[in-house]
Amino acid sequence: MKRLKDPEGFAHRLCGWYREHRRELPFRKTKDPYRIFISELMLQQTQVTTMLPYYERFIERFPDVHALAAADRETVLKLWEGLGYYNRARHLHEAARHVVEIHGGAFPEDFEELLTLKGVGRYTAAAIRSIAFERPSPAVDGNVMRVMCRVLAYDADPTKVSERKRIESVLTDAIVHEVPSDFTQGMMELGALICRPDPACEKCPLRDCCFAYEQGIQRTLPRRPKRKSKPVETYHVFIYGDGRRFLFMRRPESGLLGGLDGLPQYGGTLKQALAAFAQDYEVRVGSHEHLGNVRHTFSHKQWLLKVHQVFGQGGEHHLKQPGSSGTAIPRAHSKVLELFQKQNGTFA
Ligand code: SF4
Repeated sequence: MKRLKDPEGFAHRLCGWYREHRRELPFRKTKDPYRIFISELMLQQTQVTTMLPYYERFIERFPDVHALAAADRETVLKLWEGLGYYNRARHLHEAARHVVEIHGGAFPEDFEELLTLKGVGRYTAAAIRSIAFERPSPAVDGNVMRVMCRVLAYDADPTKVSERKRIESVLTDAIVHEVPSDFTQGMMELGALICRPDPACEKCPLRDCCFAYEQGIQRTLPRRPKRKSKPVETYHVFIYGDGRRFLFMRRPESGLLGGLDGLPQYGGTLKQALAAFAQDYEVRVGSHEHLGNVRHTFSHKQWLLKVHQVFGQGGEHHLKQPGSSGTAIPRAHSKVLELFQKQNGTFA
């Protein structure tokens, strides 16, 4: 792998561009490691425009690590509702408790100690160190890998941890010449605005030191690893209620979407699923109607949900109005309710 042509020039060009062109974002106005931690976790798998209102609500409710550590799990998940990948919410809650209990509420600066926090990997630890503490730790995520595979004309698999570590080492030569927080955020911003999958090289401050641009191969890099198709799991989901209130069940704490309020969901044949539903909720099932299907994709699998409205008697004490319990509803089941709503009108 090549090294940077001119690490110092690279750093100055990047940071000069960043200081002139950066977007004004609320989490860029702070050096508070807690807020930077929250923003980084929210930004994983999520676009800035989507996460911003969540970030602002979250910080208003939990302005510091003590407030988050003292909160109950349900309240944290409720504020996260709709953002998906709920493990991030669970992790940041656990991490906040760890910071309060073990570090007295002060985020550690040490890389290895940061890695002991739930939800914090190499990228997030480096982002916190460089942005909050001005330490020369380059943060390398998928976007930064894309930029650097091009700058170095490096045909590597960007998803491999070993390759990410190599890029970290190359960037360490450069970050030491600049303000670490500007450098890290500059790399992120360049990946988000300029060196996108379809790169805008004519506007790029790194053009003169980009080997891929020099060779005209920037659009062929980075190599796209072959995507494995995600396994599909099929379930029956039941809508049972009076049109305003529905039967919800609290999902077990451990496991996917744990602790959230879900609609009844069963595998197997429809007959088996209805029998299990009738037994679990003491419902005498009269008739049922298939309303359609909903697909939901997780990071590692997909759900195909066959949605049925069920009519019958019993189970009234399980009925709740969506959102009334203060417990979050998983996005997959909000989609099911939206399907029902589309066909039957509002249930507010
Ligand atoms: S010159 Fe083009 S390919 Fe190279 S870093 Fe800039 S935007 Fe990316």
